[in-house]
Amino acid sequence: MSFGLDAGLVALNGVGPALAKKLEKLGLYRVEDLLFLLPLRYEDRTQLRKLGTILPGERCLTSGEVLLAETVYRGRRNLLVRISDGTGQLTLRFFHFSNSQREQFRTGIRVTCFGEARKGPSGLEMVHPEYRLLRGDGEEAVDDSLTPVYPATEGIQQGRLRLLTDQALKLLASEPPRELLPNTIRRRLNMPSLAEAIQYLHRPPPDADVKALKSGKHPAQQRLAFEELLAHYLSLRSMREVASEVPAPVLPAGAELVDRFVSSLPFTLTGAQQRVVTDIQRDLGEAHPMMRLIQGDVGSGKTVVAATACLQSVAAGVQAAIMAPTELLAEQHLRSFTDWLEPLGIQPVWLAGSQKAAARRESLAAISDGSARVVVGTHALFQEGVSFDRLGLVVIDEQHRFGVHQRMALRDKGGDAGQPHQLVMTATPIPRTLAMAAYADLDTSIIDELPPGRKPVSTIAISDSRRDEVVARVRSACAEGKQAYWVCPLIEESDVLEAEAAEASFHMLTEQLPELRVGLVHGRMKPAEKERGMRAFKDGTIQLLVATTVIEVGVDVPNASLMIIENAERMGLSQLHQLRGRVGRGSAESHCVLLYKSPLGQLAKQRLSVLRDTNDGFIVAQRDLELRGPGELLGTRQTGLPDYRIADLSRDADLMPRVQSVANEIMDRHELRSAIVRRWLGKAERYAKV
Ligand code: ADP
Ligand code: MG
Repeated sequence: MSFGLDAGLVALNGVGPALAKKLEKLGLYRVEDLLFLLPLRYEDRTQLRKLGTILPGERCLTSGEVLLAETVYRGRRNLLVRISDGTGQLTLRFFHFSNSQREQFRTGIRVTCFGEARKGPSGLEMVHPEYRLLRGDGEEAVDDSLTPVYPATEGIQQGRLRLLTDQALKLLASEPPRELLPNTIRRRLNMPSLAEAIQYLHRPPPDADVKALKSGKHPAQQRLAFEELLAHYLSLRSMREVASEVPAPVLPAGAELVDRFVSSLPFTLTGAQQRVVTDIQRDLGEAHPMMRLIQGDVGSGKTVVAATACLQSVAAGVQAAIMAPTELLAEQHLRSFTDWLEPLGIQPVWLAGSQKAAARRESLAAISDGSARVVVGTHALFQEGVSFDRLGLVVIDEQHRFGVHQRMALRDKGGDAGQPHQLVMTATPIPRTLAMAAYADLDTSIIDELPPGRKPVSTIAISDSRRDEVVARVRSACAEGKQAYWVCPLIEESDVLEAEAAEASFHMLTEQLPELRVGLVHGRMKPAEKERGMRAFKDGTIQLLVATTVIEVGVDVPNASLMIIENAERMGLSQLHQLRGRVGRGSAESHCVLLYKSPLGQLAKQRLSVLRDTNDGFIVAQRDLELRGPGELLGTRQTGLPDYRIADLSRDADLMPRVQSVANEIMDRHELRSAIVRRWLGKAERYAKV
């Protein structure tokens, strides 16, 4: 062949511009890309199964002699072909067929067919199997490798993809792509070479461990997943390396302003908070940007830690910005910061999308002339047109809602002061292995201690057939002067439907509990309306707050000690854990009732029981990962975590410690490092700037 693996796909036989376009939809541009398009599953056409050994549900290749072919009418026309091989019988069933097709199936002729066997009205049958007639005493042909089934896209047949990968595999054999994992490392980890792994996965031998392949844990798959995770990890580490070399404003520790703030608080910082404050103070004193992640369970007191960092910035004469993912949460921060900083003579400035033009202009002016020393807002902060005078610190709350992109965008707003320091906070504690993959560009501090006096929230799961009992429970709690949340179902596809569902619950509860003052908050309300609702709940005017998951973050009402969550089975464990963190903030014993729609499946039961059994966010996150996958945990759509081609974090997170140690070994081999990153992330824009 006169082209290499990096040739465009049109170099291949049978690929014209039209097909190339379709292949692009699968992310395929170069011949090499085909090699990394792994089969979703495999079909076994390497052996001819005896009819008597086939079980319902199996997809297999078999053959037999036609005993009988007949057209029957069961509502519609069916062609039934009964075949036998002496060990058993099978019926081939066709709904669409031509007369000539029917006439082919003469008694005594041999047929080979492939399809899924299932129980039919008269024994095993295959509906519309692939089939071939065997003439004379021709041999039944079997394949010499398992048949790959590739991810399909409109208008590309499996057969076509197999022919194309055949060509790519030929090239692979004649000029294999560069092996990027050093031999010593591969031997130690007991991994096949890249070329071996690719060849194997596209055309596994008949004796391949199909079960391992199906689970994605086959060594050949793990080999590729490993290299891909390594590439992502290395690229994050490079970002951090680059960041550690750029200048950032030095913000000296030991500012008197910070001390004054800490001693003005009505509580003392926990040991964990103090430790993290020390980490931050040290980082901010460096001439390179801090890139630090604070992980801390809901209620662990991250905000106040962030405030100390902001004051260290203000004391050094630079601006600090705090960004939250929702207006509600940003508003809560604005309130806390205003309460804390006003007495120190600092007025936080607000910037959010919903702001009126005049107020926005005013904020923007204060931000750019530097009179705004602490700015609180939403993602509006990193939009164009926002220019800081001397931005020295960026605090990002609830990182899992933002992507790396957004962090990068704020990084570029530093101006003359150099790049701002970054402090990222998340209340979604994620397992260590996953954190390695997601946050390799960050140093991590953990607040693993709750402020004293917090009582664990006791959690139970109840079928919604017992809704009345739950309503009665709300009644009696409120009669005792407590407050309660009623959280309505999450409807991911539509916040309109979600709001409607919340309104329906609101009306129902208002009717059922006429003596209570019931409020409603949902995501479709205007910010001012939401704010009014929340405020009324906070000051006790409202006893029962019906809400959508907008209260997930940002609400702090110590008197609320009961939470009901409807359709809890639809939500992620970490999200449920966050939600219930809204209660248990006061001194009263708190309860969370997970209402589920019966019947509840086995997995769902297991999931809900995790919340009953533990109040530790890390354990919840770990179990969530095991039971469901990282998408839920990190909110894949919003994380900015890249889509992996082969690796799957819920399956492969356990590779991370080895990925990390291999990365450490090759960190100094710059050419190798960038070759690995290029192979797997060549096109990803997120790394282009690094
Ligand atoms: P989160 O980590 O979930 O963001 P917050 O920062 O909102 O938690 O803190 C939760 C509540 O705990 C707030 O009311 C905060 O003022 C309070 N808090 C924070 N630190 C302490 C502490 N050391 N002792 C007592 N209360 C604290
Ligand atoms: Mg918080």
